[in-house]
Amino acid sequence: MSERGVQTESPSDGKMAHSQLHECDVTERTDKVWFVSAEIYRQTGYRGNHPLAIPRIGTVLTLCEQLGWLAPQGPRAYIASPQATEAQLRQFHDEAYIHAVMQADAGLAATPAWRAQFGLGGMENPLFEGMYQRASTAVGGSILAGQLAARGGVAYHPSGGTHHAMPDHASGFCYFNDPVFAILSLLQQGVSRVAYIDLDAHHGDGVEAAFVDDPRVLTFSVHEQDRWPGTGRLQDRGRGNTFNLPVPPRLNDSEFDVLLQHALLPVTRAFAPDAVVVTCGADALAGDPLSSMALSNRCLIDAVMALIKAVPSAVVLGGGGYNPWTLARYWTALWGRIAGHAIPTDLPADCVDTLTELSCDLIDADEVRPDWLHTLLDARREGSIRDCVPEGVATLMASTDMAWPLRAAIQTTDSLSRNALYV
Ligand SMILES: [Zn+2]
Repeated sequence: MSERGVQTESPSDGKMAHSQLHECDVTERTDKVWFVSAEIYRQTGYRGNHPLAIPRIGTVLTLCEQLGWLAPQGPRAYIASPQATEAQLRQFHDEAYIHAVMQADAGLAATPAWRAQFGLGGMENPLFEGMYQRASTAVGGSILAGQLAARGGVAYHPSGGTHHAMPDHASGFCYFNDPVFAILSLLQQGVSRVAYIDLDAHHGDGVEAAFVDDPRVLTFSVHEQDRWPGTGRLQDRGRGNTFNLPVPPRLNDSEFDVLLQHALLPVTRAFAPDAVVVTCGADALAGDPLSSMALSNRCLIDAVMALIKAVPSAVVLGGGGYNPWTLARYWTALWGRIAGHAIPTDLPADCVDTLTELSCDLIDADEVRPDWLHTLLDARREGSIRDCVPEGVATLMASTDMAWPLRAAIQTTDSLSRNALYV
């Protein structure tokens, strides 16, 4: 077959397929959306007073089932995550570290050397039964999500989003870095450029470090300033495809819209990605006990939908989030929007029961707001726009002339797909 034939006539050709898909609005192709998770996440893995020892994905799954939003097959289907193999994990993680996680899980005891070398066994990254299976299943889910989305569509994987894990050590409650694998999976499926957008309250340090030298991947993290891990400064631009936008405490929806419209969307558009991967940490919401951003879930969901709109392929991940009510409502409503379901104004009684049964050591009973029990979508949380927000956006945008690698990337994209990407 001639080269021309491969590129323009073969129905199985990836480039041809992508060009066609650029003309579609992916959010309207609700026959090509998938909910990826696993039964293991119905139960809490962490124990004791760890911030993640709260109901999370299990509540999301229950609410989606109660709303009739999880189809066993066909359009908008639930698909079980496979567990990543050791060989797959080695595509990013060091063999010695993988074995340490495996052995720590089996023996539930970390040596002092492991703590020092791998970050395993302390308060931050404790050992618990099933930790290897849970962490490697999140990786398997992100690999599967990338494979599904690469065909065109949206794969929603709320069990993913462990964005702090490093190749050779655990960090920030994360053992393996599944967002890295979502990106690698898309690239391995033939996707040319991936934009990674991190909307968690904390800097997506592990993902940024993984791709800082890779011109195929843009990373853009929005996170609360002066919060752990302390990286992701405005001026940290890597080799040009790294973007960081630290934001002040109590960031409101009006302020978020400024950075969405004037930084996140323009930068993503300029990169002209074939796929986006979005980490949607629920700790960016108002009411989270470990951070102090003040966003509504409606604002964040609208942002995610804007970012994935008209891009051929999208993987949408979870992330942090330490308030079980706001997390469950956000990630349930996010799936509702992705899958095109009508989101009820008032939840049915069984969903209210599910939310009422939740509890959290970090949140007193009198802090639980009635709307956390009866609704999915927040009202928007408007507020005054402090000068530091547009100033930060202006500084960031002034730090790039969209030259390298952005302009080069645009020039390699045919005009049809570029013009149809964002309308
Ligand atoms: Zn976080």
